[in-house]
Amino acid sequence: MTAISRKLLPDTAAVGHDGMLEIGGCSVEELVEEYGTPLFVYDEAHLRARCREAVAAFGPDRVIYATKAFLCRAMARLAHDEGLLLDVATGGELHVALAAGVPASACTLHGNNKSGAELREAIEAEVRYIVVDSFDELDRLDVLAATGVGPTPRVVLRITPGVHAHTHEFIATGQDDSKFGFNLANGDALRAVDRARRSDSVELVGVHCHIGSNVFDASSFAKAAEVMADFAVPLDLPELILGGGLGVAYLENEEAPSIAQWGSVLLDACAALGVRSRVSVEPGRAIVAAAALTVYTVGTIKEIPDLRTYVAVDGGMSDNPRPVLYGSGYESFLPRALDAERELTVRLVGKHCESGDVLAFAAQVPSDIAVGDLLAMPVTGAYGHSMGSNYNKITRPPVVFVADGEHRLVVRRETYADLLATDLG
Ligand SMILES: *Cc1c(COP(=O)(O)O)cnc(C)c1O
Repeated sequence: MTAISRKLLPDTAAVGHDGMLEIGGCSVEELVEEYGTPLFVYDEAHLRARCREAVAAFGPDRVIYATKAFLCRAMARLAHDEGLLLDVATGGELHVALAAGVPASACTLHGNNKSGAELREAIEAEVRYIVVDSFDELDRLDVLAATGVGPTPRVVLRITPGVHAHTHEFIATGQDDSKFGFNLANGDALRAVDRARRSDSVELVGVHCHIGSNVFDASSFAKAAEVMADFAVPLDLPELILGGGLGVAYLENEEAPSIAQWGSVLLDACAALGVRSRVSVEPGRAIVAAAALTVYTVGTIKEIPDLRTYVAVDGGMSDNPRPVLYGSGYESFLPRALDAERELTVRLVGKHCESGDVLAFAAQVPSDIAVGDLLAMPVTGAYGHSMGSNYNKITRPPVVFVADGEHRLVVRRETYADLLATDLG
C-alpha cells in the first residue's frame, strides 16, 4: 500500500523541515508535547473553506450546519461567523449553541422525540423554526400554546420521502420504514400539512427531508429532491429544506461529490421542477469530517505469527466509535513518515476492555512502526468527538484548533475530577 494520499488530509497539511506532519503551520509533534494524546486536531482554514464552499453553492442563510457532527462553542461560533445557521437536535445542543453566543434566530430545532421541555425552551428562545417530526409533537405544541407558551413557533414538517439512500442501514433515514418524519406514501405528510395549516399553535413555513448520512450517490439526492419538489410545489410554502448527508471519502479508494457538485444536483433538480421556495441544506459531515485528524500514541504491538498483528493505541471506541457502530473504515499513518509506503497490514485497536474495540480492521502502516510512535487517523472530524463516551472511565480527549502557526485549545482533556463531577457518592 502506498503512502497516505494528501486528499484525505486537512487542507493545510504539509511536511515540516524535520519531516514531521504540520497542520495549520503547527507541528503535530509539538501539539502532542503540549496537549498529549489522544488529541483531535482541527484545521481551522479547512473548516472555513468548507463553510464558504457551501454558502457559495446555496447562498447565505441557506446552509444549516448539523451540529451533531461536531459541536463545541468554538465550532458553533466559527460556523456562525461564516454565515451558516445551526441545526440542533436536542435541548443540550441548543444550549451549547446559545452559550457560544449564536442567536436563537440562527438555530433550527430537530429531533424525532423532542420533549415538552425542549419544545418550550426552543419556543421561548425564539429559534428560527422547529422541524416537527410527528403528530404527537403537534399535540405537544398544542398543549404548549394552550398554556400560553409563545410566541407562536414557525414550523417545518419533516417528510419521509420513501427514498432509500445507499448507505449503512443505521444512517439511512428517508425510507418508508423509518422512525423519522411523516410518511409521504401513506398520506401522513399531507394530513400533517393540513393539520398544521389549520392550527393556531404553529405557523407552517415549509417542508423538510433528510434521506440519510454519508451518501455518495448524487442520484439518491436528485431522487429525493424530485419527490420533495413534487410534494412541495403545490403547497407553495416559503422553505424547502433538503437535509444533509453528503458523504466524504474516508479511504484511499473512495470518491465523494464535492459540496459544489451536491449543490448543482439539488438546485438543478429543484429548478427543473419549478420550486419557488428558498432551498436550504443541512450538511454536517461534509463540513467537518476531513478537517480533523486524531493523533494517538502506539502503546502495544502484539504479533501473532501467521495470524495477525495488533497495534494498540491510547484511545479507541470511546473517541472514534464509528468502526464499532457501523463497521466503518479509517486510514492511518505515522506523522513522522507521511510519505512512507505502508506495507504492513495490522488491526488497529484501542485500550478498552472488549475485542470489539477496533479503530481499523485492516490498517496499512509502515513496517517500522514501533511502540512510542505517534499514529494519526485522518477524516475523524465528524461523529468522533461528538459520539465519544467515558467507557472504562476514560477521560475524553481534548480538541485543538490550528491556523496560521497558532494553536488554541477549544476543549480541554477531561480529568479524573470530571469523572466524579456527577457522582454524588
Ligand atoms: C444528521 C443530520 C444531518 C447531517 O447529516 P450529515 O450526514 O452529517 O451531513 C442533517 N439533517 C438532519 C435532520 C440530520 O439528522
